[in-house]
Formats: sequence, structure tokens, C-alpha cells
Amino acid sequence: MSYKEIEDRLKNNGIIILDGGIGGELQKIGAPMDKGLWAGKCTIDNPELVKKVHESYVSSGADIITANTYATPPISMREHGYSEFINEWNAKGIKLAKSVAESSKQNISVAGSVSTYGSWDKLSEDKLIPGFKEQIKILSDAGADFLILEAMSSALKTVETLVKCSLDTNLPVWLSISCALDKKTDKLMLGYQESIEKNTKSFLYNNFTDSIHTIKKIHNGPILIAHTDMTIMKRALTELKHNYDGIIGAYPNVGYFEKPTWNFMEEEISPSQYCNEAKSWIDAGAQIIGGCCGVGPKRIEAISKYKL
Ligand SMILES: [Zn+2]
Repeated sequence: MSYKEIEDRLKNNGIIILDGGIGGELQKIGAPMDKGLWAGKCTIDNPELVKKVHESYVSSGADIITANTYATPPISMREHGYSEFINEWNAKGIKLAKSVAESSKQNISVAGSVSTYGSWDKLSEDKLIPGFKEQIKILSDAGADFLILEAMSSALKTVETLVKCSLDTNLPVWLSISCALDKKTDKLMLGYQESIEKNTKSFLYNNFTDSIHTIKKIHNGPILIAHTDMTIMKRALTELKHNYDGIIGAYPNVGYFEKPTWNFMEEEISPSQYCNEAKSWIDAGAQIIGGCCGVGPKRIEAISKYKL
């Protein structure tokens, strides 16, 4: 699918199916995870497995596959001693996804993931800007159809910096942010909490609605809520829709990180249950639906069948 077709479908109130998580799936099919770069190093060490994960999402009916570049932002690669490979690994992430898209009979677009992985919230703007700009350029030059800025677990200042770095690219730009519930005030916050019920660690940053008002001054492309406990997804989308006129979407996580691996909660949440949740996100206005960590091909297949 060319980006123009995605754009047309979204304009006509259609639904676009995004893929699920990459890192979790790679872990599941036996790819070793790197201490510093998590699933990022698989692009070089296990390219066949990365392609296999992309292919599984194509077979599940995804319209978009996301290159495995979430965990290879230049800032992180430098931190872990891989500075000389920044260009090669990020470009290869795009090339692997492109080769899967091109050999498919379906119309698939490739998103380049530009991320705050590793820098999260700990760096100042002057340190963040060069790294964000560098990854944007590499992914664009390598042939990404569009970019998703994945600002998971980042405070508003970092999200703003990331968006500003994307303003001069020629590619379409989507933004994803994560959201958590402040139990004390019952307010949604920009934040991070994989599972509220299991009470995994949480980080709460800025008020969610206030953040949307700030972001929309500099970004008018799709805004997606990602890596967020799906139990608060409908509420978060409703709040986003109420405060943002652009296209919105959802790709929550399912399960939570239970050291040293991800707990996928497969017993608790079946693909059809995931699909039922997704229907409520569509009702809340989401037009782009997929999954983040813990959401694999079966859950994506359930929503893509529902869409048809
Ligand atoms: Zn995730």
C-alpha cells in the first residue's frame, strides 16, 4: 500500500491495521536479546528471524509493517559502544522490512521507527536533537514510506523535541505516545505502566490533555497511543479525540515485562477478546489499530478479519 492509499483510506474514515510488537515476537521465536539494545541487534545477528516476524504480520493482514529500528536510535547505540554501526543497522532494519513488503502480494507500507529508546527522559534537548535527526535521516534515506515517532515513556519536553526534529523531513510523520493512570488523582498522564492490575512499575509525567494541547501546536499528523495498558485505552482515546481533530490510533501492549522475559498473558486474553477491545477503540474514534509488546500475529489477525 502506498502512503497515498493509506492517506485516502484514513480520509474516508477507513481503518488501517498496523502490525504488533517486534521485540516480543523475536524473543518468542528464539532470537537472543541484547543487554543494551534489546531486540535491535537482531537486525544484524538474526536478519532471517526479523524477516520472519515481518512476514507473520503480513500474513495476519497488517497494512503496515514497522522496521526493527525502535531499539537502535543513535543515542543508545553510542551509549553501548556501537557508534560505527549506526547507519548500517538502521538502514538494514528498513531494507529487511522493505524486502518483505516487496515480495508480498499484498499492498504493504513500511514505517521507520524513530524512538526515544534508551534516552527516555534522562537527557536534555541539546543532547537529544542530533540523535533524533540522525535516525530520521538514515531511515528516510533507506526508503521508509513514512515515520512513526515512538516517544514511549517520555515526558512532554522530550516528545516536543522529537516532533520538532521531524519537521523538516519530506516523509509523513505519525507520533505515538504512552499513557498511564495516576491512581491518586484518577487523571490520565503521559507516562508508562504496562499493567495497572499487576502493578508493574510506573512513571507519570505530564497531564495527558494538557500535553495534547501542546503537541498539536507543532504536529498535525496521526497521534497514536502505544505501549499502554489496554484497560485505559478507550478512556485515553476518548480524551485524545475530544482534544485533537486529526487522525488517531491505538497500539497498546498486552501483558508485562517479568524479568527477564515478557509475560504475554495468552491464557487471560484471547485474540477474540483483543479484537473486542479493539472494537471499543474504533468506537472511540481510532482509525489505526495494531499492537505493541505482547501483541503478536494472532491478535493482529483477529482485528484484521474484523475489519473486513
Ligand atoms: Zn511496547
